[in-house]
Amino acid sequence: MRLRAGGFWRWGAALFCALWLIPGAAWAAAWVTFPTSWDIGQAFAVSLTADTDYKDPAVTWMGRTVTLDVEQGGAGKVSYGLLGSDVRKIKPGDYPLLVEFTQGKQRFHVKGSIALREKRYPSEELKVAPKMVNPAKKDLPRIKKEGQLTAAALRTMTAKRRWTTPPGLPLSMIHITSHYGFHRVFNGQPRAPHAAADLRAAVGTSVRAPFAGTVVLTGHHYYAGKSVYLDSGNGVVTVFFHLSEIKVKKGERVARGQVIGKSGSTGRVTGPHLHFGLNLAGQYVDPMPLFETSVTELLKKGRQVKVLD
Ligand SMILES: [Zn+2]
Repeated sequence: MRLRAGGFWRWGAALFCALWLIPGAAWAAAWVTFPTSWDIGQAFAVSLTADTDYKDPAVTWMGRTVTLDVEQGGAGKVSYGLLGSDVRKIKPGDYPLLVEFTQGKQRFHVKGSIALREKRYPSEELKVAPKMVNPAKKDLPRIKKEGQLTAAALRTMTAKRRWTTPPGLPLSMIHITSHYGFHRVFNGQPRAPHAAADLRAAVGTSVRAPFAGTVVLTGHHYYAGKSVYLDSGNGVVTVFFHLSEIKVKKGERVARGQVIGKSGSTGRVTGPHLHFGLNLAGQYVDPMPLFETSVTELLKKGRQVKVLD
């Protein structure tokens, strides 16, 4: 607020004090930043900044509400979120985004929308064991149960943000053998597009946590083989499939760069590799572009909306 000289100054100061004393009065400004359009399958950033304190920021996107951390940033408070859309589920179109937060006793709601554009991903043909394309009837209950466990792991929502961008590398050498979004044909039969990046890795190569976090699920699953799910807060979960060894336990706190397992060829594979996935509030997105950018850079591609005055 700018104070003017003379009478205005006096009235301005009086108004200033009055507003200051009213519980819940919001005289300061807040800004929400998000993109107006984006590619399907790619992560985008959302932020909320304000020069005064606020509480309980949350973003609702694709039917999921993500709780955000509040941190000190520059002259005020800031919250960041990473969100995206899953190439397997989402069609092009406009999708609503809702940002909420509390200042004083008032809950603010900021509604926006993001136009999701189609991104062309190539296709690839793969040869795997026939049972990995059409599983036997006896394996179906196991596959269903594993689907429920993984869905629960991907619903994890912790308020503390433990991820930073860019992430740490999961392998010391990165060579992508199958990109995110590839349309896949297994033994001549089309299946869902690839929801992660496959990275070349000989059996026994150390796999490292790209973010600090907590292990929310480990298992030896039908398709994923030996796998680890790591929650890093605010809806960010990374997954590591086809491992030969798991070096962490469910509930364990993991530091960025810590070895969580050894790569292998368990589950549905054509050979040894690491399937590295990034899930943002239930949406698997391409993890690889994040290694070459940061939330700050992603936010520069967004539009800033002023919320209050
Ligand atoms: Zn894969």
